[in-house]
Amino acid sequence: IGISYNDCCNGTKCPVCTGKCKDNLEMLLKKAELAMNQVKLNGKNNFMFFDPSMNDAIQRTASLQQDLKLALKNEVLEVYYQPKFDLGKNRYDGMEALIRWNHPRQGLVMPDIFIPIAERTGMIVPMTQWLIERLAEEMGDWLKANPECYLSINISASHFESPFFLKRAYQTLHRHGIAPSQLTLEITERELIDGASNTTRKVLQLANQYGFKLAIDDFGTGYNNLARLYEFGFELIKIDRSLVRMAVDKAGGDRIFDAVLTVANGYGAPVLVEGVESPADVAFVAHRDIHSLQGWLFSKPISSAEFKKFHQHHTAHDAVRRPINLAPTPLGVATAFAK
Ligand code: C2E
Ligand code: CA
Ligand code: CA
Repeated sequence: IGISYNDCCNGTKCPVCTGKCKDNLEMLLKKAELAMNQVKLNGKNNFMFFDPSMNDAIQRTASLQQDLKLALKNEVLEVYYQPKFDLGKNRYDGMEALIRWNHPRQGLVMPDIFIPIAERTGMIVPMTQWLIERLAEEMGDWLKANPECYLSINISASHFESPFFLKRAYQTLHRHGIAPSQLTLEITERELIDGASNTTRKVLQLANQYGFKLAIDDFGTGYNNLARLYEFGFELIKIDRSLVRMAVDKAGGDRIFDAVLTVANGYGAPVLVEGVESPADVAFVAHRDIHSLQGWLFSKPISSAEFKKFHQHHTAHDAVRRPINLAPTPLGVATAFAK
């Protein structure tokens, strides 16, 4: 609900008019709508009174929206890749694609700002199509040379409304000779719970039929409707980085982490831990039932040019290291990779 009001004479221009009340009905409704939009931006289920600063915020978003449209059309968005390290194989085997936008005036704009705009305006689906096209071009050779490796992209609830994007994704990969099983779709726990169940289920089934893999993202931060998540059949569960931070930095945090990990393992899918930033984080996860790790300790998200260097380095590195079983001392692995 958005609320706006005339605070003196209800727009009738009384003799003591302060000038604050000169809005006609149309203007009042417009302001109420701006306030309502602000509520929606902040997560719905609330109310807000109109405030003049909302005009500025709305204008800033509108101009960003316009620029984003151009950025997508002119292909100035970039894709960065962040490796996922498999503890069993003792090497990285996956890459998460994360979009970056180098804005001509504002500099680097992070996805947390522009993805919600893209979702609200329906730009997210063409953006994902563009992303998959770019992944196939930039990473196709790596994927074909390493059939056991995979790429992942992020999907949000707005994609469930346009399931045709799955067909386009399949066709794009097919055209580049890439197996659909080498693409994982990451969907946050929150989006899965919020999404309309029938649509969500159908789209995810369709994704499975096309041969894509599915992963639950940010596990442990949503509403944990455990029975509902079980229905979807995921192939990877990614525990959110906030839980690692809590486990390592806060007294008693490890107990919460272990409780969440037990639930995650209950689904029977491999578990990845996100946001691994330090050897202390690795030491914490080392002897737990965890399949793979992702985080700044291994690598920050990198451009495709940087990825080529990363890959060359690790291919050489792996060959040297392969005979050594580092699994019981993953702290060593992490330190080696951090260098
Ligand atoms: P996410 O899917 O949870 O992505 C992981 C985010 O954590 C990335 O931020 C990554 O840079 C950051 N990160 C990785 N390792 C560490 C670490 O060790 N410590 C810390 N503190 N952070 C780490 P980024 O790239 O800013 O992305 C933010 C979110 O934006 C993503 O969260 C994802 O939900 C969304 N996003 C990014 N690209 C896309 C996209 O192409 N499509 C959609 N729908 N969403 C995207
Ligand atoms: Ca993700
Ligand atoms: Ca995540």
